[in-house]
Amino acid sequence: MTATNPLLDFSGLPRFAEIRPEHIGPALDVLLADAEAAVVAAERVQPVSWESFVVPLDDATERLWRAWGQVGHLQAVMNTPALREAYNQNLPRITNFGTALGQNVALFRQYQTLASSAGATGFDAPRRKVLDNTLRDFRLGGAELDGADKARFTAIKEELSALGARFSQNVLDATDAWSLLVQDEARLAGLPQDVRAAARAAAEKDGKDGWKLTLQMPCYLPVQTYAEDRNLRETLYRASAQRASEFGEGSLDNSGNIDRILALRAELAGLLGFASYADYSIATKMAQDPADVLAFLRDLAARAKPFARQDRVELEQFARDTLGLDHLQAWDLAFAADKLKQARYSYSEQDVKQYFTEPKVLGGLFAVIEQLYGLRVQPDSAPVWHDDVRFFRLEDAQGALVGQFYLDLYAREGKRGGAWMDDCRNRRVRADGSVQTPLVYLVCNFGRGADGAPATFSHNEVTTLFHEMGHGLHQLLTRIGELGVAGINGVEWDAVELPSQFMENFCWEWSHLQGMTAHVETGEPLPRALYEKMLAARNFHSGMATVRQLEFGLFDMLLHSQFEPQQDSVLALLERVREEVAVNHPPEWNRFPHQFSHIFAGGYAAGYYSYKWAEVLSADAYAAFEEAPDAVAATGARFRDEIIGRGGSRSAAENFQAFRGRAPSIDALLRHSGMAG
Ligand code: ZN
Repeated sequence: MTATNPLLDFSGLPRFAEIRPEHIGPALDVLLADAEAAVVAAERVQPVSWESFVVPLDDATERLWRAWGQVGHLQAVMNTPALREAYNQNLPRITNFGTALGQNVALFRQYQTLASSAGATGFDAPRRKVLDNTLRDFRLGGAELDGADKARFTAIKEELSALGARFSQNVLDATDAWSLLVQDEARLAGLPQDVRAAARAAAEKDGKDGWKLTLQMPCYLPVQTYAEDRNLRETLYRASAQRASEFGEGSLDNSGNIDRILALRAELAGLLGFASYADYSIATKMAQDPADVLAFLRDLAARAKPFARQDRVELEQFARDTLGLDHLQAWDLAFAADKLKQARYSYSEQDVKQYFTEPKVLGGLFAVIEQLYGLRVQPDSAPVWHDDVRFFRLEDAQGALVGQFYLDLYAREGKRGGAWMDDCRNRRVRADGSVQTPLVYLVCNFGRGADGAPATFSHNEVTTLFHEMGHGLHQLLTRIGELGVAGINGVEWDAVELPSQFMENFCWEWSHLQGMTAHVETGEPLPRALYEKMLAARNFHSGMATVRQLEFGLFDMLLHSQFEPQQDSVLALLERVREEVAVNHPPEWNRFPHQFSHIFAGGYAAGYYSYKWAEVLSADAYAAFEEAPDAVAATGARFRDEIIGRGGSRSAAENFQAFRGRAPSIDALLRHSGMAG
C-alpha cells in the first residue's frame, strides 16, 4: 500500500484525483508511527542543535500535517459518507498526537536546552522566534506546572471545554425550541415571498395550517427587517433576546454556565501566574495588555459615538415622520433602518451584480497583484478534486516560481458553505538551500453562470474573493524558510486579518472597478452613477455599527480583566458599558450575554476586540497606498518586505512600525468609515 498510497507521496503536488477514503487509515499508520518515532528520538538527542533536534521533528510532523490537511480539505469540499466516516474515525488519532505533543515535558526541556545553548546565539530572527513561540506555548499549556497544579490545570481545561460546548448547545436548543404559528397572512405583510414560503413549508411539515416563524436567522432577520406588524417584530425580538436565560426552560439557562466559565478562566490564568484571563489571552496577541486594549476601544468609542448618536437621531426622526413610530424600540431598529436606506440610496444589488462577470473579476484581481508586487498570475495545471477547480502559479519578473494556488469558486453538493483560505504546503528552505514553495487553497461558494454565460458576482462576493486572496498572499509571498513562522504561522490572532481586509479596499477603487467589470450582456464597465450610489450606501449607519462592536469588545475585555463576581453582576457590567459607548439601549429583560457564544463557547474570550483592532491596521496600511498614488509598486514592495513577507518571524507591531515608520493610527479607519473628524 505504501508505494501506491497517494497520501504518502510528498514528491510533488498532492494527487487529489487518486485519494480514496481507504487510503487514509493506512497512510496515518505510517505517518503517525514516523512522527512518534521522531518525537522519541528528539526527546533523547544529544547534543541538541537546530539540525539534530528541530529539523527531524519538523520533517516528520510536516508530512503528517500535510497528508491530514489534504484529507481535511477533501472532507470540506468533496464530502461523501465514506470520506466522512474515514475522517471521523481517524480524527481522534490526530487530536491525541497533537495534545501529547503540546504537553511533552521532555521536548519542552530539550527546547529550553537549545534556546540557552551556545549555538542559539547565532540563530537568525525566524529561528529565534520559533524558539520563543514554542517555549511560550509550552508554558501557556501548563508545561511548567508541577504535581497538583498540573492536574488542576488539566481538569480546568476539560471542564471549560465541556462548559463551552454546553453553552452553545443551550443557545442552539433554546433557538430551536421556540416557534410561532401565524394563521392570519395579513400579519406577514412586508415579508419577502421566499421567507413566507419557507414558513408555510415549516408549518406544513408539522401538519399545521398557516406559517411557522422561528428564531433561526433566515426567518428572524427578515421579520426584524421587513415585517410591518410591529407586534410581530416585538414578539420574536423578545423570544430571541431571552434565549438560554432564566426566562426560559431551566435546563437551557446559561446563567450558571457564565459564572462557572468566568471563575474557571480566572483560576486557570492564576495558576499560570497571570493577573487575569485577559492577560493570559493577550500573551499571544499583538496588543500589549488589557489596558492597551481598553484604551484603544475607548478612544475609538469617543470618536465614533457622535456619529452613532447622529445616526440614532436621524433614524428616530425618520421613524416618527415617515413611519409613524413614536418611540423607536429595539424591534424597530432594523425595520426603520432598512426603510431609511431605501429612501436614501435606492439601487439594486441585482443591477450591480450584472457587471461583475467572473473572467473580468479574476483579471482585475490578478492585475492588482501584479501592480502591487510585480508578480504575474499564470494558469497552471495540477491534479484536482473536481472539474470546477482551477490552478494558478505566481511568477516573479524573471519567471521564477513564487507559489501556486487552487481556486474552487462554485457551490455544489458535498461542499461546505462559506469562503476560506487554507494552506496545503508551507514555504520551507532546507539545509541544502532548496526551496519548498507555498501552495494554498482558495475556496468560495458562488453561484454559476446560467446557459453558458459567465458567472456574475455580487459586490459582496467580489469583496469576499479579494479577502481570501489576501490571506492567500500572506502564505504565498512569505520569504520565511522556517515552517513555524512562515506565512500566517505564528502571526498574532489580532493581526492576522490585516492582509485580507487590506485587499478588500481595492474593490472600492474606481480605477480598479472599471477594469474588473463588464456587463454580462452589453460588456459595458460599471457606470459612474451606479458606483457613486454604492459608495454613498457603503457607510450607512457606520457610526451605529461601530459602537455596537465596541460595546461587545469592551464588555468582553472588562469581563475578563476587571470583573469582581462578589461585588458585581455580568448584566450590571454590560449596562455600564452601554452607558459609556452605546446609543441603542435594549430593554432591561434583554439577555445578550447568555447568547454571546463568541466569548463563552468560541475562541474570542478577551479577543473580541480583534475585529476592530485588525481593521485599524488594514485601513492604515491601505492609507499608505492612498498617500502615494504614483508609487504603488514601491509601496507594495515595502508592504511585502515589512509585513506580508515576514510571516510570524517578527511581531506584528514591529512589522507595522517598519512599514509605516510609526505605530498604527485609527485615522484611516475613521476616514474610510465616513467618521473623520
Ligand atoms: Zn479573513
